[in-house]
Amino acid sequence: MKTPMLDQYDRIKASCPDALLMYRLGDFYELFYDDATLASELLGLTLTGRGKGESRIPMCGVPVHAAEGYIGKLVIAGLRVAICEQVEDPRSVKGIVRREIVRIVTPGTAHEYLREEDGLLRIGTLEVNKAHSGAVVAAILDPLTGDCLRMEATAQEILGWFKTAGVRELIVDSRTSDQASKMIGELATALSVLVSRLPAERAVHTQDSLAQVVESRLVAYVSYTLCATPLHMKPSMSINDTPHLFISAATAHHLELLEPRRFSKRSTSLYDFLHATHTAMGKRVLRQMILYPLADSKAIEARLTVLDHMLENAVARAETAELLRGFRDLEKMCARLSSGAAGPRDLLFIAQSMRRAVRIRKIWEQIATAHAVHALLVDLPRDDAQDVRVEALLVDDPPAVERALGVIREGVDPEIDRLRRIAQDSRSYMAELEARERQRTGIRSLKVAYNRVFGYYIEVTASNRALVPEDYERKQTLAGAERYVTQELRLREAEILSAEEKLRDREEGIVRDMMGDMRQRVPEIQKTATQIGWLDAFLALAEIALRYRFSRPVLDDSIDLEIRAGRHPVVEQGLSGTYVPNDTILTENRQLAIITGPNMGGKSTYMRQVALIVILAQIGSYVPAEYARVGIVDKLFTRIGASDDVASGQSTFMVEMAETAELLTMATERSLILLDEIGRGTATYDGLSIAEAVVEYLHDQVKARTLFATHYHELTELSLRLPRVFNLSVAASTERDSLIFLHHVSEGPADRSYGIDVAKLAGVPKRVTARARVLLKERETQARQMNREQVSFFDDQALQEDRESLAILETITELPLDEWTPREALLYLFELRDRL
Ligand code: ADP
Repeated sequence: MKTPMLDQYDRIKASCPDALLMYRLGDFYELFYDDATLASELLGLTLTGRGKGESRIPMCGVPVHAAEGYIGKLVIAGLRVAICEQVEDPRSVKGIVRREIVRIVTPGTAHEYLREEDGLLRIGTLEVNKAHSGAVVAAILDPLTGDCLRMEATAQEILGWFKTAGVRELIVDSRTSDQASKMIGELATALSVLVSRLPAERAVHTQDSLAQVVESRLVAYVSYTLCATPLHMKPSMSINDTPHLFISAATAHHLELLEPRRFSKRSTSLYDFLHATHTAMGKRVLRQMILYPLADSKAIEARLTVLDHMLENAVARAETAELLRGFRDLEKMCARLSSGAAGPRDLLFIAQSMRRAVRIRKIWEQIATAHAVHALLVDLPRDDAQDVRVEALLVDDPPAVERALGVIREGVDPEIDRLRRIAQDSRSYMAELEARERQRTGIRSLKVAYNRVFGYYIEVTASNRALVPEDYERKQTLAGAERYVTQELRLREAEILSAEEKLRDREEGIVRDMMGDMRQRVPEIQKTATQIGWLDAFLALAEIALRYRFSRPVLDDSIDLEIRAGRHPVVEQGLSGTYVPNDTILTENRQLAIITGPNMGGKSTYMRQVALIVILAQIGSYVPAEYARVGIVDKLFTRIGASDDVASGQSTFMVEMAETAELLTMATERSLILLDEIGRGTATYDGLSIAEAVVEYLHDQVKARTLFATHYHELTELSLRLPRVFNLSVAASTERDSLIFLHHVSEGPADRSYGIDVAKLAGVPKRVTARARVLLKERETQARQMNREQVSFFDDQALQEDRESLAILETITELPLDEWTPREALLYLFELRDRL
């Protein structure tokens, strides 16, 4: 026989089979059956059980007050958790209390349960655009701020976007097309995230555009997990509307844009470096800026104008910073208002911050002349009457939870004041009663006290029992004491409790009205939050520009890149010595630089520095250089060092080639490509050949601006036959048996390889280094001879096949397809097939 409680449990569990059910029982959330086994393993909790033998049911529980941390762990482990509460007061029901699921916490929507260090948290979805072959319409939603971004791009670009944007969960619904479902499945594997299905009854059935479909699917999913209609969701915005700099996921990782690479504890990310913001909103905007730099010179210019204004007005900057310190996380509060989790304290915090926003608006309105600055102010509130009222109603330090005593300020409501006086008087009455009864009975240790089960009682220690008067009624016997009540105590207690109950109701009523008003204001508060975030982020960029002597970049629509005395801002700060600034000049005729020089010479730092300067410029920030002119870059790719990917189990060479493939297929003439040591993960001649072919392809086909650092000295000769290729090298000087790195990048190839010098520097015995030099000489001579004799390192057959395919590919590229009829094309296809 099942108990009614387990019956109820089973019913609720059936409604959310793919989530762990945390079932509220008094002060605990309990898990049963398989949920209990799994949770006890993951959380290290003791597994207990109900019943005996065969029918024993495994269970485990977590205390309600500590539940948040446990739930956080479960979602980080990739699970969904349904929280089931008692929705009736157990004291007022006979039999079983009604329970309902009030929230489903999932890996993409768990913002209340995770810390900032746990990283970005987004949900995403996509649909296939059948009108454009290969195009995918995707959306990403931040469940905390309600920001929803859309993008239409290739599947490959979407994958990169989802990866860098921190998508933790992919959503499908009953309308998701088969093709999209398949793609989502593949994405989920690539990103190792969860696919969640929106229950069919929640799917939004409209005849809308794909953009609306993906947006409404995500919003519906959030409302499903919140078990309420979220008020804080914003209309989605398309990334395609403004051109953005595309940064591949690998690039964001290599350049340590948001997070430092794991193995190097000391290095800081670009985000850490720029992180001079004061508010949570500012941090979010800064992250957003780094993830989505612009690729439109007008839009960038507008941001630079804001920055100019900030830099010119030191006083306003200081005043604003002062107001921003202590500014609350309005976005989080809107999410709490939306989910019904907000309390009186949130109301006060919102009001205080909104009043600060009014003052910030005033500061800048008075001095700013530029349109770009005014655009940042329009959504800030002008008037703080409503918020002044909120502050006037609430006490200075109101409680966090809604139904509490002592929320409303004295003098606001005469009834509240009257009830408080009754409650107050009664408390002093109890003290007086205690004194009186001590006197009457002669028991000096007699106490009047209160607990939730018995209400008010008189406690007498066991040793004084004999002195207890006739009119005391015994209520409870403890180990060393007895508890009594009297008629008088009962009457008084009823009075107090009813006064407190009324007080609670009365205060709650006022709070509820205020909450209602505040909920109406969510869109306004959100707009304020967003603009405060932007102001804060700009202020941070201004602060950084001053602190580290950055200069204002020039942006244009050329495909040049001209940097004078550029620096790597993060490396510079970590250095004990001085950083050596370097120039970079890339133009139409100087498209691809081959960089050679010794290990540790500064090649990769130089390349990263160029990338960071471009990113900063396109964010709309000042840059660490004396002068920088950036012809807008559309996509940025890097292939720099893969040592930290080894741990992931993928072969370094495979990762390297996958990244190379990505950039070769996606880059355009406007792109910037940084390649470090490509081809190293394989045999020398393999590697060298791949490297050379990649350079040729970038030079002839892609024509993107490229920096290519390499150990293959042979590549420096490419400048002789490819007109837009040129050489750069990092200098080192060998003085008295030691190698000194100058970190200076100069024109021309490195005069030689310094491997043996480095070995010497590292303390390898002279016998070995000297012998190495002899061997090197021999090898070089041999190699030269071999070249002449055309010794083949290749599999002859494979070589022959590659030659033929190459010839065919070349023919295809040159076909006059525009002039042909389909029939001619088809016939030609047959011909080609016969040749293969
Ligand atoms: P490579 O890629 O040539 O092996 P790195 O770029 O890794 O060399 O540089 C090695 C070290 O040299 C860096 O960790 C940094 O400390 C220092 N370094 C690099 N560039 C500079 C510079 N321009 N000024 C001063 N120190 C530098």
